[in-house]
Amino acid sequence: MAEMLTVQLADRSYPIHFAADLRQEVRAALEALGRSGRKVAVVTDSNIATQQKRALEEMAAGAPTLVLPPGESTKSLESLGRVLDFLAGQRLDRTSALVAIGGGVIGDLAGFAAATYLRGIDYFQVPTTLLAMVDSSVGGKTGINLKAGKNMVGAFHQPRGVFIATGLLETLPAREFAAGMAEVIKYGLLGDAELFGRLQHSPLTIASSDLPAVIRRCCAIKARIVEADERELAKEGGRALLNLGHTFGHAIEQTTGYGRYLHGEAVAIGLAAAARLSQKLGRLAAAEVARVEAVLSAHALPTRLTAALPAAELMAAMTRDKKVRAGLPRFVVLTRLGEAVTLDGVPTAAVEKVWSEVGAI
Ligand code: ADP
Ligand code: ZN
Repeated sequence: MAEMLTVQLADRSYPIHFAADLRQEVRAALEALGRSGRKVAVVTDSNIATQQKRALEEMAAGAPTLVLPPGESTKSLESLGRVLDFLAGQRLDRTSALVAIGGGVIGDLAGFAAATYLRGIDYFQVPTTLLAMVDSSVGGKTGINLKAGKNMVGAFHQPRGVFIATGLLETLPAREFAAGMAEVIKYGLLGDAELFGRLQHSPLTIASSDLPAVIRRCCAIKARIVEADERELAKEGGRALLNLGHTFGHAIEQTTGYGRYLHGEAVAIGLAAAARLSQKLGRLAAAEVARVEAVLSAHALPTRLTAALPAAELMAAMTRDKKVRAGLPRFVVLTRLGEAVTLDGVPTAAVEKVWSEVGAI
């Protein structure tokens, strides 16, 4: 049975549908657009086009489909040009719609193309990675990378609808599934003690019968936060809470050059680091830090750097964080397992100590 969640953003509100299989629903939505005289185009990547061929054909309902190469390098200006030229070539007009069927890369790129083509057309998302299901399907952030850095160009553009079909995850590599779990664990930690308890009780897998329900819960937590602070303007708390584990994680990704760790793996180490920092600041007990690490490990995620990195470089990467004006960024710390707050003015020494505890030298 398909379940539904509405992201409440006034006239930009949209539904997210959840079920193991939503092929008929996606097809029906595209056919309905076609019947009302609106053109539809699909963007996906070649892994999905081969490994989910049947599902893709059934969902796309004959709509013209652009298949891009997989991987982060596709989130580029060059691919953006390809998508825009494709839309123009297919003669999409202002009433047309773009459907992104893929992971975060395809969702961010196609979403940005939809935000800018003819100054903005509708888009729909069919996320195919766990990460994209729990993260990219709520929030409206779209964009691409520049040589100078990740997500340097983008726009807020909310989808008109999102279809989360967990059956699509059957072909997702195990490492990618685990990486997505880092974000799931993050939601439990920052806003849902019961969810964290669920993950502690037994690891969530592709075979878990409550997988759609857990993903729905993550989307609901993110929706609640985004609804209250769509553009991350809150003085404290707000959308910045979603950065739990990311201040450390982004520093790891920057220092290693985005090759060694998947985003979720860097975030997993970041979550362990954030828990340790929370303990140092007197907010969390040592036993709770151990529980965070145990849940990460049970989901095949790292809690320490797999090879040592220089602490000085990691600290420097933190101060370069794009959201920072001067000094160290604002941290998200846990007050208990299931609640987080933002914190300014964290002592440098505490952060350095955490880096050394997770394996920096
Ligand atoms: P993310 O969603 O983690 O940001 P990507 O969009 O880069 O990342 O997807 C991660 C990798 O998984 C890519 O190589 C992509 O082609 C592949 N992929 C995405 N969805 C599926 C799927 N359902 N089955 C198999 N491979 C997939
Ligand atoms: Zn993330």
